[in-house]
Amino acid sequence: MGRWPLFPVTVVGSWPRPTWLLEAMRRGRADLRSLQDEATLLAIKYQEDAGVDIVSDGEQRRDNFYSFICHRLDGIRLMTMAELLEYVEDKAAFETLLKALDVPAFAIKNPTVVGKLSPKEPLVLEDFKFLREHTRKPVKVTLPGPYLLSRSTWVKNLSDAVYPTREALADDIVQILRDELRALAAAGADIVQFDEPVLSELVFAGKSATRTFMCAALAASASPEGELEFAVDLINRVVAGIDGPILALHVCRGNWSQKEEVLLEGSYDPLIPYFARMQIQQFVLEYATPRAGTLEALQALPAKVQLGFGAVNPRTIALESPEEVASRVTQLAELIAPERIYLNPDCGFGTFADRPVGTPAVAFKKLGVLAQAAAFLRAVT
Ligand SMILES: [Zn+2]
Repeated sequence: MGRWPLFPVTVVGSWPRPTWLLEAMRRGRADLRSLQDEATLLAIKYQEDAGVDIVSDGEQRRDNFYSFICHRLDGIRLMTMAELLEYVEDKAAFETLLKALDVPAFAIKNPTVVGKLSPKEPLVLEDFKFLREHTRKPVKVTLPGPYLLSRSTWVKNLSDAVYPTREALADDIVQILRDELRALAAAGADIVQFDEPVLSELVFAGKSATRTFMCAALAASASPEGELEFAVDLINRVVAGIDGPILALHVCRGNWSQKEEVLLEGSYDPLIPYFARMQIQQFVLEYATPRAGTLEALQALPAKVQLGFGAVNPRTIALESPEEVASRVTQLAELIAPERIYLNPDCGFGTFADRPVGTPAVAFKKLGVLAQAAAFLRAVT
């Protein structure tokens, strides 16, 4: 018997933030912390009621999946794309890119390294403890990945006074994530997931030939192969020798817009050889969107790794049916063993506070669809 039933239902991480929380975040209210506690309890309740087996805290304390670290580390601060434009060599091209991606420059903020990084407080350990105290379910904790952070936070003319290269910055990022992971393992987190969405940008030819992911739009990149090698090396350095939680990695094609046509498209095939060399036990991948290609690519994953199978689209209002999800998973179970399959949405329901892609009502129903599909699959497997 495993720690949970077959086809465990879980989430990628974020839950739509209540409007009162968004308002409080905008105003920087003094009682923000207690409002975030309340919002977290709601996010937990929705997941439990929907039948989720492994719950998250809904990332209610974050402005988005990675820039929240600015509040928890010294040496890094949020800068708007408008501010950063000052430091970009080709301003016009950058503005055109943001426009094509459906991203207004004033709306997006980038965490930017401007000094030596040092923790003011743990990145997510306290959030984990709050979650652990308020649910009896197993829990998942999410952290931004080391490649995403090294790539998006190092900005030429701003970061190089302290870190001459991205690699020098990455050494400190690896250490900070390692310390956090060790603390989470000691505290008993069931799953720790690293979010590395920009890996997809390296291999999929997007609408613009280069730099399609807004959170990595500023970093100059080497060859895709070189960047992927760098990403493999960084994650393996973060997790080396740390046991306890299931270590997961989430890679998607973007979750900032409901316009499918601006998000990346391409199969996971070119990434799988790199995944295979990561010391990661579960890959959390999107498959509800047709942009992710066919299931066959997954056969090349090492037999020991688990798959977090994206089976509902967090950005659409139309509900998938439990029958169609179950039939998709049945097809998948012919390619990889059922014991290796987890069910989740393609991505978070509220990755960016300013740009939620789903409402709580729809997100709740979508998780319910996954739970119903899992119940059916358990009965027939
Ligand atoms: Zn995602």
